[in-house]
Amino acid sequence: MTLSTTLTPGRAATTGTTTPAAYAVGVTKHYGTGDATVAALDDVTVALDRGRFTAIMGPSGSGKSTLLHMLAGLDRPTAGEVYLGDTEITSLRDKRLTQLRRDRIGFIFQSFNLLPTMTAAENIVLPMRIAGRRPDAAWVASIVETVGLGGRLGHRPTELSGGQQQRVAAARALASRPEIVFADEPTGALDSRSGAELLGFLRSAVDQLGQTVVMVTHDPNAAAYADRVLFLADGRIADERHAPSAEDVLDYMKTLGA
Ligand code: ADP
Ligand code: MG
Repeated sequence: MTLSTTLTPGRAATTGTTTPAAYAVGVTKHYGTGDATVAALDDVTVALDRGRFTAIMGPSGSGKSTLLHMLAGLDRPTAGEVYLGDTEITSLRDKRLTQLRRDRIGFIFQSFNLLPTMTAAENIVLPMRIAGRRPDAAWVASIVETVGLGGRLGHRPTELSGGQQQRVAAARALASRPEIVFADEPTGALDSRSGAELLGFLRSAVDQLGQTVVMVTHDPNAAAYADRVLFLADGRIADERHAPSAEDVLDYMKTLGA
C-alpha cells in the first residue's frame, strides 16, 4: 500500500502555511561562568522548514547538540529566542515547556532509552499513554510498517538487535504525530547497515508521512540522507548545502578542519 494515499498527511503537510517548523533567532548559549565560560553557540539564526529532513553537521564540540537542545526546548539559551511553529518557547515556564515537548516534539537519541520490561509495541505507544492520549491505530500501523518492525512487536528490547531497538525508538518518536522530530546522532551506536535502515526510515517518514526531521550527525553518509545540511563551526552556522552527496559533505568538512 502507498501510505501517502491511504492516510491523511502529517500536520506538516496540512497546515498550508510557510511558518517554519522551528526557528532560532540570535541564539547564544554559554555554559559556566567567569573564566570557565564556554560559548557553545554564538548568535545563531536559522529556520527549519516543515516537511523536510535537515541535518546539522560539524566537528566535535562545534555546538550541534547544544543547538538541538535549544530548538527542542530541552535547555534554554543565554540570549535569543526559539519558536516552535508560532510558539515562542524560551519564555515558557518549565511546566508548559515539558507539556509542549511531550505534545509537539519527538526525540531520538543515540542511546535507545527503551523500557526493558515492555514489548516493542508497548514502548512505541508509552509516551502517548503517559500523556493520556489515544494512539491513532492507523497511524501507528503505518509507522510500524514503514520502520519494518512488523514481526517484532511482541519482543522485549533485549530480544532485539541494536538496529531494531533504534527503530522501535524511532517509531516511538513518531507515534504521537509530532510537529517535529529531533534526533541527536541516532546512528552513533549502530553498525553501518542498521544505521542505513534507520536513516532510510527517517527519509520515508519525511517523504511518505510528511514528517519534519532535524538530525545532528558527524557522519557525512548520514547527512547525505537530508534535504538540507547545516554546517556548524565554533558555535556558528558556517554554511549550508542542499541535497549534498556524502562526498560533498566530506569535502566541506575538510575545509572546517574536521
Ligand atoms: P557537539 O554536539 O557539536 O559535539 P556540543 O553542543 O555538545 O557540541 O558542545 C559545544 C561546546 O559546549 C563544547 O565546547 C562543549 O564542551 C561545551 N558544552 C556542552 N555542554 C556543556 C555543559 N553541559 N557544560 C559545559 N560545557 C558544555
Ligand atoms: Mg553532540
